[in-house]
Amino acid sequence: MEPEELEELREKLIVRRDELIGAGDVEFEPVKKDPSSKVDEDEAPLTEMNQVIASRRNKNRKLELERINVALQRIANNPDEFGECAACGEMIPIKRLELMPWARYCVACQEERSGPRGRRRRHLADFID
Ligand SMILES: [Zn+2]
Repeated sequence: MEPEELEELREKLIVRRDELIGAGDVEFEPVKKDPSSKVDEDEAPLTEMNQVIASRRNKNRKLELERINVALQRIANNPDEFGECAACGEMIPIKRLELMPWARYCVACQEERSGPRGRRRRHLADFID
C-alpha cells in the first residue's frame, strides 16, 4: 500500500475514534424504585425499552472502538502488511478500506467467514409486516 493511502486510512481511524470517544456513553435514567413516587404505568415499559436501545448502542460503539484500536495497532506495528487480507493474503481493495479501514478480510473471505446467515441480505420487505 502507498504510504499516502495508509496515512489517509490512519487519519480516518483516528477521526472516527475521537468521534466515538467524544460522544461518550449514552446515559440513561435508572428506573426509579422509589415507592412514594407514583409510577406512570404507561411510561415504565418505554423507559425499559429505551434502556435496551441505549445499552445496545453502547455495545456497538464499544465494538467499533475496539476494531479501530486494533486497526491502529496494526498500522503502528506492521504498516507493510496493513490492508492484506488476513485469510488469503491478497490486498483488500482500497475502496473497501476507505469505507471500513478496520476490515481484516477481503469481501470473498469475509463472506466465507460470516456463513450463509451473514451473506443473506436484508430487504426492505423484511421490515414490513
Ligand atoms: Zn481474502
